[in-house]
Amino acid sequence: MVSTNILGTEYQVKLDDLRNPLLLDKAGLCKCYLHEIIVRKPEVILEGDATDEERLVALKEVLLHELVHAYSRETGTHYDDDENLVEWIAWLIPKIVASYEDVRIKLSEQELENEDKD
Ligand SMILES: [Zn+2]
Repeated sequence: MVSTNILGTEYQVKLDDLRNPLLLDKAGLCKCYLHEIIVRKPEVILEGDATDEERLVALKEVLLHELVHAYSRETGTHYDDDENLVEWIAWLIPKIVASYEDVRIKLSEQELENEDKD
């Protein structure tokens, strides 16, 4: 188990297996009221003959989704049927971070090029 600070609130994050009755048929769960996130271990997050790589991708996506639930809770913006919004935000975050990094790197390279000209 690890913990992470979500807007000033410490959340416990743990990987669990199929024996956890709280998960039922879900791949992950944010028990936001208890400040706890549970995600299935990679070996049980997908059924069938999924590859290790597919399992890790699923784990990352589920973890991100549950973290968005925690942020939603801590900002007071959660509501009963917010799954689509949470999934949309979780899906976009890596893409926004990648765009940010791309632009940041290009701007830094441009800055370095400009310094060379000085
Ligand atoms: Zn959800």
